[in-house]
Amino acid sequence: MIMGFGMKAVLVIDMIKDFVTGKFGSPRARQIIPTIRALLEAARRVGYPVVYVCDAHRPGDPELRVWGEHAMEGSEGAQIVDELSPQSEDAVFKKHTYSAFFETGLHGFLQDRGIREVILTGVVTNICVQHTAADAHFRGYEITVPEDCTAAVEDELHRQALETMKQLYGARIVKSTELMQEWEAQ
Ligand code: ZN
Repeated sequence: MIMGFGMKAVLVIDMIKDFVTGKFGSPRARQIIPTIRALLEAARRVGYPVVYVCDAHRPGDPELRVWGEHAMEGSEGAQIVDELSPQSEDAVFKKHTYSAFFETGLHGFLQDRGIREVILTGVVTNICVQHTAADAHFRGYEITVPEDCTAAVEDELHRQALETMKQLYGARIVKSTELMQEWEAQ
């Protein structure tokens, strides 16, 4: 463990039942479970915080007008998928719209730990991941996206979102294996 050195945190965005196996689930979302799992294990080994940020909607959230009811706070669909259950040292934040930073305690949590770089994983690439990347950029974070730890409902949407995050927010797009090799080498 390299505690205190951890200038990075891994965010796991919306890997909850409604987005993986339920209402808005997709085979692509299910496909990234093992790669995220491996990345989280590596992050915990080197002492980088793992932070889950999950939709937990309340009636009246503006987003429900667009998508209908999903991931309602306290419902089964708002639960993190079993394969990625948080461990005791991980942090979990509830969010109420696409961005993991909007009206959550995430920014303060990261600042308190001196974190300057966020590694974005989860779903969906062109919605919650991309909006989180925007808000991370506005707040001065460096952004890394392991492309095989994120997914959208179509490959084209996934690729476009990765390109947008690279062009607009300077996100580094990598393979998760590259990232894990870098961490182990540090
Ligand atoms: Zn939502």
